[in-house]
This record gives sequence, structure tokens and C-alpha cells, in this order.
Amino acid sequence: MAAYPTIVRALLDDLTPAQLEVVNHDQGRLLLIGAAGTGKTHALLARFQALCERHAAPDGALLLTASRAAADALRGRLEEAIEGSYEALTVLAPEDLCAALLREQGIRFVVVSAAERRALLSDRIDELTLRTHDFGANPALLIERLVRRIDRLEQELVTAERYAAWADALPADGGQGDRFAREREFAQLYQDHDRLLAEGGAIDAGGLVLAALRVVRESPRARARLAERYRHVLVDDAHEMSFAQTQLVALLAPEGGTLVAAASDRGERPLLEGAPLVVLEGSTRCAQGLPVSYWRCANERAQAQGVAAEVERLVRQEGVAAESIAVLVRSLRDEGQAVAVALEERSVPYAVAGSSSFFLRAEIRDLLAWLRLLADPGDASAVVRAIARPPVELRSIDLARCTQIARRRKLDMISALAAATESPQVPPEARERILGFLELFRAAVAAFDTMRPDLYVHRLIERLGLRRQQLFAAQADVVERLLDLARFGELAASFTRRDPQASAREFARYVAALAEAGLSEEEEQQPVGELRRGGVRVLSMASARGLEFDHVYVIGLQADRMPGPWRPELDPIPRELLSRKPLPDDRDAHIACQRRLLDVATSRARQRLVLTYAEEGAPGTRRPPSSFLEEARVAAGAEWETRAEELFGPAEALHAAFRSLREELLADVGRVGGRLSELRLDTDLDLAHAVSRYLELVKLAALLERPSGQSIADALAEVNTRLFQAATGLQREILETSALDEHLLASERDERRRALAVAARDEPSLEPFLPRRGEGLALSASDVETYLACPLKYKFARVFRIPVEPTINQRFGIVVHQVLERYHTGEHPGSLAEILGSLDTSWRRAGFGASDRERQLQAKAVAALTRYHERFGAEQAEPVWVERSFSFKLGAHLMRGRVDRVDRLPDGGYELIDYKTGRPKSAEALRDDVQLALYAIAAREAWDLEAETRSYYYVLDDLKVRVGGAEVGGEWIRDTVEDVAQGILAQGFEPTPSYATCSQCDFRIVCPAAEL
Ligand code: SF4
Repeated sequence: MAAYPTIVRALLDDLTPAQLEVVNHDQGRLLLIGAAGTGKTHALLARFQALCERHAAPDGALLLTASRAAADALRGRLEEAIEGSYEALTVLAPEDLCAALLREQGIRFVVVSAAERRALLSDRIDELTLRTHDFGANPALLIERLVRRIDRLEQELVTAERYAAWADALPADGGQGDRFAREREFAQLYQDHDRLLAEGGAIDAGGLVLAALRVVRESPRARARLAERYRHVLVDDAHEMSFAQTQLVALLAPEGGTLVAAASDRGERPLLEGAPLVVLEGSTRCAQGLPVSYWRCANERAQAQGVAAEVERLVRQEGVAAESIAVLVRSLRDEGQAVAVALEERSVPYAVAGSSSFFLRAEIRDLLAWLRLLADPGDASAVVRAIARPPVELRSIDLARCTQIARRRKLDMISALAAATESPQVPPEARERILGFLELFRAAVAAFDTMRPDLYVHRLIERLGLRRQQLFAAQADVVERLLDLARFGELAASFTRRDPQASAREFARYVAALAEAGLSEEEEQQPVGELRRGGVRVLSMASARGLEFDHVYVIGLQADRMPGPWRPELDPIPRELLSRKPLPDDRDAHIACQRRLLDVATSRARQRLVLTYAEEGAPGTRRPPSSFLEEARVAAGAEWETRAEELFGPAEALHAAFRSLREELLADVGRVGGRLSELRLDTDLDLAHAVSRYLELVKLAALLERPSGQSIADALAEVNTRLFQAATGLQREILETSALDEHLLASERDERRRALAVAARDEPSLEPFLPRRGEGLALSASDVETYLACPLKYKFARVFRIPVEPTINQRFGIVVHQVLERYHTGEHPGSLAEILGSLDTSWRRAGFGASDRERQLQAKAVAALTRYHERFGAEQAEPVWVERSFSFKLGAHLMRGRVDRVDRLPDGGYELIDYKTGRPKSAEALRDDVQLALYAIAAREAWDLEAETRSYYYVLDDLKVRVGGAEVGGEWIRDTVEDVAQGILAQGFEPTPSYATCSQCDFRIVCPAAEL
């Protein structure tokens, strides 16, 4: 029997009357309503504790909450409050309760995540029928959408069988032929999804709830056992639970026991219709005078830097524990990554909490790279990562030599590495490293098709020494990294359990698809397990439920992100399949939901809260703050504090100190002046403080102006002597006890440490691999665009020139370009039959097959070219050049490229046309388009032609977007090219990660900025 738990009373102290009512509730059901921060969770925890006190053991109480992360956090708080020993504190997420229930029934299964299901469907896509669903540009997005729809159906208790019966009953056509055919296709896909999971003994989170509900409904014994075990059921964040979960929870309420559920006051009241109500009002934290700051940041980089700089100060100078600081973001893959980079720049320890972070960890990406290159030795990005990382660690310069050999001799990277071992260009030390890599490769490839995946992964980890490296590493997050490796091994083991005949090669394909499938924003909100790594917490707002921190930064609060646009559900669930009134899907519901999310985030802070937004979005555009943020600021009567982007430099800390001291001084002047007329004894002291502050501001100005090369420490002694001469005795005393000098000296030490860390990363120059032309560079529009998007991506693509296989969409684009070129270069434009014949030939030559996706693309090409032919016949345009090349000098640089088509217009002018097969952009968005601006200059400089009009022709949408006027081809483009060229010449290849750029980047597996 469990020992008697000892109660620490903290949770039970200072409860409001409403909270006490919750704690003392002793019969039947009760619903607790209150917004985030009103103390609902606290009341439930206090009730849990009181139940332990009354019943001598916590075993009869069950606390359910919406997510596993929240359950971990609440269990932690209870463990702190209840001392002594006991069997277990049962605090669970619904899916864990369901899993335990099913296992008790002897049902065996493996639970798979949404990402794993997406990987499974992507891997078996050829077995699925997807003719009426549009693949769009990225099939992964279609699969994600389909899996999300299955999740929603499961949440509404709609099984695959029910859906199929409904879809079968739809009329064959009924005027909605396409929609009905799509629904039938989806019904089949839902069944295939369930079949594929069942074949592997797997079940998803929604399926778990459906199965558990079936057991509880159909088995009186199971129900009785539950009622006996859990006499008191507590439910936190009930409004976050799905319809299926609330149905299950409703069945848990035991006869003679209690069920108390807490929900937000703004959402639905999903549980306990008609139960007595307790309402909590007023924030328990903000009402106690929590200081709140409002930051207007110049852009997202400034926002991330501002947070990182302040966090660095808190940790290094004020001794705040990094774990008691949280940065809450809307999306981990967006703002989260920017914050991670900014913290990394300052060497501040941090931990990103989210399932997505697993595949971003360096050691996991090392393993992934090895598995990818073993499955496909032509995967150059994976090979490059494997040779650049331990245990091989080839230097950048030697890496560039190897990719050059691969390119020149047209070899894949593995063959190029073998050739490099005999090349005189490669130094002996590098050859040794390459030989070491090749030996590892040969040993690993030998068992790839025969060994069980779990054993293979275990051996690979050992051979690469990944575990050994971690054991001897000095970082504080070693345990976390070792556990990641163990988790990767567990992935392989669970894959083997599902498919005992599978080889390591199949596992490699599966796990690469899993990593590639990534996580949707909703999944990111569900961190896996507790965060073991030390450091500042970077979390999504939703996953912060149940957690508390001393300092909280809630960032990214622009109107376009919070609440952001409402997007109606693309695939709503048919009403006739719903077992309840449909939830509202409109703008008001969206706003209410986002407001709740922000309430959750802002109510996590114990000592200080900072709310921020980034003003600049796309270059030149201004974004307003969220209306929620503005409302809160106005209500608090607070001013915006501004944060500009800061370049790292010796004066960074001085500038920051100068700005904040100036703000403090201005506030002091008003306060001290206002009190001068009062009859007080400490007026002198007030004045002395204000003057000392002014003198400190003078000190900072003097330090900013100090001779170049002089250290702060040296300058400080001199400046202090002068200031002390001018100050009174009292002012001198205040100056001597101020912490400013120590702060400045510590910042200088930090900067020196950073500089040393950067210097340690220095590698030999990549100068021989830059695209030199005389004094300048040879550049194309695409080079400039790539560098602007991310300098590191430019380095991978244009300096290392890592070979990349074209994607199916890129091959499709090439085919369309070829067909149009042939169409216009004949004697006269051909007939429709000729253009389609030409498509047929190019299609086969490009190696396209007959999968559903390829057929869809072919149908799109036929439709687009048919429209193109019609439109061209009706237009007055006269194409005079097709695929015309240009090269010209822009400053010291040689610009090169090719324009798809040049038309002479009826008025005698010329139009430059570039074909696109992607999504159209508006003329406004193309105003600063680098490619079109360069084409305009090219026409003038290289062909002596004034082209007033430049266009992108979006072939699939039959849409021509024209850009013209004086703004294109102006000075800005010359400046842009010069800046980019200077950056390349100075080998400035620092990454600038953003979700938009990184999600399209072919070099994610190599990129250190895309890892944690
Ligand atoms: S993954 Fe992102 S940061 Fe890394 S190179 Fe690509 S675009 Fe740059």
C-alpha cells in the first residue's frame, strides 16, 4: 500500500471563495469557468491536493488535461506540493488514458504520430488513388491536408466505414460530379489509411480515443473498473478537448464520485451540460501589478536580437536562471528559429520545445544524412553533411575541391571523393579524412539491405561514434542529445516491430520521408515529453499551457499573425455526419480562439512580461501591431519601446545602455521635478540621483566617442576621474556604487568571448571558388536573388556547387519552357496539334511516368498550352527573340542571363517576357523584383533596346503580370548588385534562416542554421 503522502500547503493557501468551492465540491459534477490566468488550474491542483489529504493517497484521483506537455507540467507542480511516497499521481492526456485502457484489455498496438502517418502515406503514395485531388506544387501539403481531415473526422466520431457508407450513397453525378467523385476518392483513402496502419499494428491518436470509447461503451466491466479506480475525475482545459474526447470523459464520471471540469469562459462549454457552475474572474497575476513592456521592433531580426540581448543580460549579469525565462512564439519554425539563431549568436543556452525540434538536432541530422547517402549515394547534400561533420570533419576548402571534381568529371559525390584521394589538389591530411569516410561508407553499405533496421541503426551510431562524441562533449545538453539518439533507435525498433521483414534501406526511406514530412503548426504545439535540456525555453504559445516562468517574452504579435486572417475550412465535414451542432467556422470564432491563445501566453509570467511585434514584413512594407496588443497597451497607458536591428560590434552594449539610461533619465526628470515643491527631507538625495544619472549618460557618450582601438576598461578610468572631479560628494558616492561600470566591463568581456568563438570557426579562404571575373564577379539574377534570400544558401549552391537533383516541379517547368521555345522558333508558330505533339515528345524525354501526380501535371500542361495557343493567336504581339542571351558590365561585375521571349509591341516598343510555372504574384509584389529589373538594364546595355514593359507570364494560370515604369531598372538594383557582390567577395556567408526560405532550400540537411 502507498505510504501516506505529506502535504505542503502552498497550493491550498490563499484560495479565493470560488476556488475554495471547487476544492470542497464533494458530490456529482461541477463546471468551472474562467479565462486564462484566473486561477482555474490552480483550483484544480488545490482540489487534487485536498483529495490526497482527505483520502490519504492520491490514487483515487485522475487529472486529465488537453496535451501531454500540460500533463507533464501539472504533474511536476503536484509533485512539488505533495511530499512523501505514493504509487502514482495520475495526471494524463486523454490519449495516454486511452492507451492504458486498451492495453489493459490486452490490445497490442504502436501509437503513431501525424508526421509518421504522413510519411507512411507519402512512402506508399503509389498504392493510393489520388486522381481528383490536386497535388499542387507540393504533394506533402496535400497529404498533410488529407491526414488533418482524417483527424477531424475521428475527433467527430466519424469512422472510415461511416464515411464510406455516406460517400457511396452520393449520386453518381447530381450536378456536383467533381465534388462527389472527390468525396468517394477520399472515403477510399480514409479506409486505405486505416488499413496501412492496421497492417503495421499501429494506431493514431484519434483512433485510440475511438477504440477506447468503444471499449467503455460496450464493456460494463471495463466501465466499472474505471469508476472504481478513479473516484474523482478532474479535467483541465476542457474546451481544448475534441468532441470524441469529451464523450469519453463524460463516461468516466463515477456513480457517487465527482467530476470537475475547467473550461475557458470564451469557448463552448463542452462538458457537463446543466452541471452547477463556478465562475472565476479577474487575473490572479496581472492584477498583482505584473510589469508589462510593449516593444515595437523594426523587423523580425530586431525582435529576435532584442529578446536575445535582454535575456543575455538577465542570465549573465543578474544571475537569473535561464530555465526561468521563456520566449513564446506563434510558430516554432518561423519566429522560433529566428530567436534560436539570435540566442546562439550570444552563446546563451536555450532549448526549443517541440516535436519538430527532434529532426533539427545536429546528431539526428547526422544520422539522417548517413542513412540518406547510403540509400542514395547520389544525394550530394547528405554526403556533404556526412563529410563536413564528425567523425570526418573535412574542411570547407577541401569540400569545395571535391564538389569541383564531381562537377568537372561528372561523378556522383562518392565517386568524386574516391577520385579526390588521388588528386594532387587535395592535401594529404584531407585525403586521410576522405579515406576514413570511404571506409565507413563501405562498411555501412555492406549490411544495408540485409540487417534489421534497429540493429543497423545501433551499429551505425556506434561506428560513427555519435554516442562517444556526446559522452566526451562538454555541453550541458549532453543528456538530452544521448536521449535523442536513444529515441532514434526506438524509432527504428518500432519500425521493425511493425514490419519485421523490412531492411535498413526501407527504414532509411521511411525516416527520410518522416523528417521531410515535417510538422504542421498544430503538431508543433504538442511538445514530446518534458524538456530535459537546460536553457531559455523557446515554446509555441499553445504548448506553454500549464507552465509558469519568471520572465516571459511573447513575440510576433503583428496583426497579420495575431489574430491573422481567418481561413475557412477547405474540407468541411459534411453536416449529415456530425453528431452535434457544427462549431462556428467564421471570423469571430477565429478571433475568439486567437484571443484565448494570447491569454494563455500572457498569463504564464510570474515577474515580468514583454509583448513584442515586428513592424517591417516584406522589404518596404509596414505591419500594424495586433489589435489585442494595442488594446492592452492603451488600457495600461504604456508607451511603445522601440528596438532596432543591431549589428554586432564593439559599441553594441554601449548603445543599448545609452538608450535605456536616456529613457530612465527622462522619466526621472519629470518625477523629481514634480516632487521639488513637496516638503520632504530626502529632496537632496532625489536630486543627487537624477544628476548622477545624467553624469552616467555623459559617461556613456564619452565612451562611445573614445579613440578607436581603446578598450572600455582603459577609457573608463580616465572618464571616471573627470566626472568625479565635477561631482559633489553625494553624487560621487552614488556613482561609485552604481552597477553601470561592471555591466559595461562584463559586456566587453562577452564581446571578446564572442569574437574568439567566431575566430575559432575561421577556415581557409574560399577565394579560388568565387565566380571571379577580373576585379569583380560573374553573376546572374538568380545568384543575386539566392544571396539576398540567404547568403549561406548561396555558398552551398554557387561556391561549393553541391549538385542537386531537379524536383518533379522543376522538371515540369523545364519541359514547358522547351515546348514554348520550340513553338516560337519554328518558321511560323505551329498548330495546336503541333504544340501538344511537342509536349508529348518532351514529356517522354524528361522521363515522366504514369503516376497519378505525373498524369495530373500532364493534364495541367495540356490545358495551359491549349490556352496559350488560343491567347497567342488572338494577340497582336510579335515575338522577335526567344531565349535571347545577354552579358553586360554593371560596375565591376559581369551580369549574365537569358530572357525567355522578347516581343515587339504594336506601338513599336518592346516587352521582355519570362515564363513561370509557379504561383502568380501581383504587380505590387513584383515592384522590387531583381530579375525583371536586371532584364531591363540588360536590354539597354547588351542589346541597345529600351524595353518599357517587362512581364512574368504565369503559364498555368494564363496570367500575364506586367511591370513597367521608371522604378524598374533604377539605381536601387545597381546598389543591390553591388552590396551582394561585396558580401560574396568578403565571404560573408552567414545564414539568414526563415521558414519561407528554408522550407524551399535543398541544403537543409547540410545547413547548421537549420539545426538545434
Ligand atoms: S536551410 Fe535556411 S538558413 Fe540554411 S542555407 Fe538553406 S535557406 Fe539558408
